[in-house]
Amino acid sequence: MRMPGVSFPRTLLEFQARFPTPEACRAYLRLVRWPEGFVCPRCRGPEAFALPRRNLDQCKACGYQVSLTAGTILHRSRVPLPQWFWAAYLMSTLKPGISALQLQRTLGLGSYQTAWLLCHKLRRATVRPGREQLVGPVEVDEAYIGGREIGVTGWQTATKTLVVIAVEVRGRRAGRVRLHVIPDASAASLTAFVVLNVTSGSRVITDGWTGYADLKARGYRHMPKPQRTPRASRQAAALGPSGRLEPEDVAVGDVPWGRSRPPAVLPGRVHVSVQPALRSGACVPVPAGDWGPAATHDLQAVAVFGVR
Ligand SMILES: [Zn+2]
Repeated sequence: MRMPGVSFPRTLLEFQARFPTPEACRAYLRLVRWPEGFVCPRCRGPEAFALPRRNLDQCKACGYQVSLTAGTILHRSRVPLPQWFWAAYLMSTLKPGISALQLQRTLGLGSYQTAWLLCHKLRRATVRPGREQLVGPVEVDEAYIGGREIGVTGWQTATKTLVVIAVEVRGRRAGRVRLHVIPDASAASLTAFVVLNVTSGSRVITDGWTGYADLKARGYRHMPKPQRTPRASRQAAALGPSGRLEPEDVAVGDVPWGRSRPPAVLPGRVHVSVQPALRSGACVPVPAGDWGPAATHDLQAVAVFGVR
């Protein structure tokens, strides 16, 4: 989304001239949040008093006090706004991205942890909620994240999380990826995931599991691979044979756990990047496809306004 009349700074100097102070950053955020002028989130009232000392706006109609950054990754951050803006700018313009360590040094951030958190929040926010669906051929499979459990076989799981993964097949390479935590491998869970994430009419390749049987009726060119019985396939998927889509094929965001320490609970959405697994803490650039053609040079698309 590009703001009418707001051009994206083309150079570092231009950026520096545009966003030198917290006030300049706030003015930009205000323009992005309320392009038509203030709107009260509670009563839709169009007028507000400014409370400059507390950086709040107070609705004239209902008295509600609104923070410009409420609901965004910037809210209640101790990092000054210009640093946030610089981080977003550098992350969105440098290729292939910038590491937390580089960011810490470049912006003079107090600690590596702060830089890491900034990277992490910005990266999460760059996943656009309304992003495009995958286009076929797409391979869909489920897998457990959390590694092998001792004394547990097949479908049973004590601590592992079942995820369903869709990957665009581009020759021998993987394209864009969608990943979702699902409660079970039922047709309801799997079909809902595919309908949400894959363009109707696409070729969808799965194993022979009956949970995918509805895809044809939902308008997909479903191509089940019949080489394994569903149960054997599922057990194999849990154990991780080569040549199949396995969770270790994708770096799960930058969540700092190793395979030896499975998470008890994963968040509802897991953002992945088609990259070899990186050291935890490293910045993972979002795949080019996820940014959209115009988004790379759009400060707003690096989602200063992403949901926390
Ligand atoms: Zn109001």
